[in-house]
Amino acid sequence: MNEATTADVIVIGSGIGGLVAGALLARYGKRVIICESHTIPGGAAHGFERQGFKFDSGPSFFSGLGDPVSRNPLRQVLDVLEESVSAIAYEPLGHYHLPEGTLPIYRKLADYQREVARFTPQGAKELGAFVQRLYDLYEPLKQIPALGLRPDLGVVPFLLRYPAALLRLLPQLGAVQQSVGTILDRTVQDPWVRQLVDLECFLLSGLKAHGTIAPEVAFVFGERETASVDYPQGGSEALINALVRGLKKWSGELRLGTHVEQIQVQGGRATGVTLRKGGTLQAPVIISNATLWDTYAQLLQPEDLPARFRQEALSTPAVDSFMHLHLGIDGTGLEHLTVHHVVVHSRSRDLTAPGNTCMISIPSVLDPKLAPAGKHVVHAYTLEPWTGWQRDDAYSARKRERAESLYCALEKVIPDIRDRIDVELIGTPLTHQRYLRRYQGTYGAAIEASTGLFPNGKTPISGLLRVGDSTLPGIGVPAVAASGILCANSLVTPSQTVALMSALTSGRSQ
Ligand SMILES: Cc1cc2nc3c(=O)[nH]c(=O)nc-3n(C[C@H](O)[C@H](O)[C@H](O)COP(=O)(O)OP(=O)(O)OC[C@H]3O[C@@H](n4cnc5c(N)ncnc54)[C@H](O)[C@@H]3O)c2cc1C
Repeated sequence: MNEATTADVIVIGSGIGGLVAGALLARYGKRVIICESHTIPGGAAHGFERQGFKFDSGPSFFSGLGDPVSRNPLRQVLDVLEESVSAIAYEPLGHYHLPEGTLPIYRKLADYQREVARFTPQGAKELGAFVQRLYDLYEPLKQIPALGLRPDLGVVPFLLRYPAALLRLLPQLGAVQQSVGTILDRTVQDPWVRQLVDLECFLLSGLKAHGTIAPEVAFVFGERETASVDYPQGGSEALINALVRGLKKWSGELRLGTHVEQIQVQGGRATGVTLRKGGTLQAPVIISNATLWDTYAQLLQPEDLPARFRQEALSTPAVDSFMHLHLGIDGTGLEHLTVHHVVVHSRSRDLTAPGNTCMISIPSVLDPKLAPAGKHVVHAYTLEPWTGWQRDDAYSARKRERAESLYCALEKVIPDIRDRIDVELIGTPLTHQRYLRRYQGTYGAAIEASTGLFPNGKTPISGLLRVGDSTLPGIGVPAVAASGILCANSLVTPSQTVALMSALTSGRSQ
């Protein structure tokens, strides 16, 4: 059978942003084709397997996937797609191995404070005041389902359906656009807790408190208090598979190994895409899930965009890329291992300095099927600049040298890690760029809260939208899912969104 060459919407990329936008538009009744360059869907959240070990390429930290109380936008999307994932709830959420000692992180504020008080009793009190301010923001926000949001004035009648939330939000309006650093400055003097909040923000956005917007942090702390933190059974791949099933259930199409070379623009309008393997696809709406740099510099010709807009967009600063270690290890004697760890090596270097803060996930602790019997999968990563990386004679040695901070971090959790290795994959910014098709392998846009919000998904080209972590609200799985919702809803009428919302609220789709 010949493949269709026309659609209502073509989505470039099957990251969570592209999948959410594409699947929701299919759910709204549009003919959707998603073109994914890689042979595996999911972008930064794709899963892959080596010698029986199932690895997450990126995110392992999720929340509320299996908890009906959760306000996670991704869960709302899965609900209306009539899909779900089995999720494993766990606690503590992680252990932060700091130069001063190890801090277990618990969901509930009181438990979190109790642990912080072991380091600084005064700081623990101040942390309470800080988080309380975040709850004041989260409480009204959580009453407004993300699934109904849209990036235009059509949002007003939707918001008016939640008068109580709006009334509670009014006094918080200043905070909605502020950095969480402003709230931190007002509530916390203790230097240790200030560093802790910086770390929490860095783990979320790649930036410290003064760079991270308050609602994003409020959402994370609020969700932690009210809903479970959980991990998808089967790994991040299981989540992606649920979105792909949802897309297909509503007659959307996913074409893997289909790299888009160019977006076709005629008379200021996007009309279709040219594929690297040959051929074109036509649609009146094109959505790019590629990063803003890849979209504007690679997928379009310079003359397609106003020169000034193009220059300003391309000068958006980018967070560094990563060094990754994916290990399959022998699990003998590791019965007390826990899933998530963050290691800060030194206080004399900035938290964000390459190699200084290392993130570690061992999800086979929660889901043993991710590894052969008696083994574990380990993913450790840390920031690494793009500059200077090339595949030359020194590449292998440099890889090993730059992975050393990850090994040293892992030794804090599993002291004899180097003697347990069955599979070792060291990833560099070049690996990250290659497999994720991301400009310089970046984590995302480094847009400091003080300089403004992330750009919305509109572009100067009619019929061309963007979705994903370089659009509003920003980086991270829930944020990217929200960007997919905003994108999809901008292409349908408010009444269509209201009808979809009723599927959510009536529980018809559960
Ligand atoms: C190491 C790491 C750990 C993380 N950990 C967490 C975590 O624990 N929790 C959390 O919430 N968030 C985490 N994040 C952030 C989160 O994973 C990302 O913000 C999110 O997955 C990005 O999704 P996206 O849709 O914006 O883009 P991407 O995932 O980058 O997807 C874009 C897709 O577009 C495709 N594409 C690009 N160009 C083309 C083209 N020309 N033609 C066809 N296809 C193309 C790519 O192949 C890719 O599949 C992590 C990120 C990383 C990198």
